[in-house]
Amino acid sequence: MTKHALIIATGNAHKVEEFELLLDGLNFDVRSAKACGGMPEVDENGSTFAANAQIKAEALRARAPEGAWVMADDSGLEVDALDGAPGIYSARYAGLDASDGDNVVKLLDALKDVPQSQRTARFRCVLCLIDHEGYITHYDGTCEGHIDTERHGAGGFGYDPVFIPEGYRESFAQLGESVKSQLSHRAKAVQWMRRIM
Ligand code: IMP
Repeated sequence: MTKHALIIATGNAHKVEEFELLLDGLNFDVRSAKACGGMPEVDENGSTFAANAQIKAEALRARAPEGAWVMADDSGLEVDALDGAPGIYSARYAGLDASDGDNVVKLLDALKDVPQSQRTARFRCVLCLIDHEGYITHYDGTCEGHIDTERHGAGGFGYDPVFIPEGYRESFAQLGESVKSQLSHRAKAVQWMRRIM
């Protein structure tokens, strides 16, 4: 059976490889945005993960070859004691040019008086898939856990050093890719998509 071209709306090669593994076995020939001249600059001004994922997917589709499918994701951390912040602002929590380290410092500071039992949080990922006919679907994936009072581990990125997934005592940064690829919000969103397709 001929495979559908599926273009991932990111310039990040690591993300393309991750999705390639997660989508293994589906009838897709996974390609990066480079296949259509790179990921266009977009203003992620939606108020939800789903809206921002769709903004990225639609921008890429406008330059994708006829008949290709496109997929974009948007993700972030929701902390219950902060009413869901940083949420869609996760990458720029400590400012537009903030590093992952700056964001973690700001998060630990915001939670400094919050007891362990109230430090619950989750990573959330929403995928937006647009098929060859322009039909749009969204798939949501979450990974529950809590925010520790200090960093642990050197692996991963973003908030990984302070996020302890439910059922574990170590942070995502300590647990590493093999565990994360089973538990992560991105993996869960793709599992959901696979179940529906
Ligand atoms: P993006 O949607 O992949 O651009 O992620 C937005 C932001 O959410 C990142 O810059 C990180 O701060 C945070 N984030 C998303 N996924 C993860 C993760 O798996 N680990 C740690 N931080 C994450």
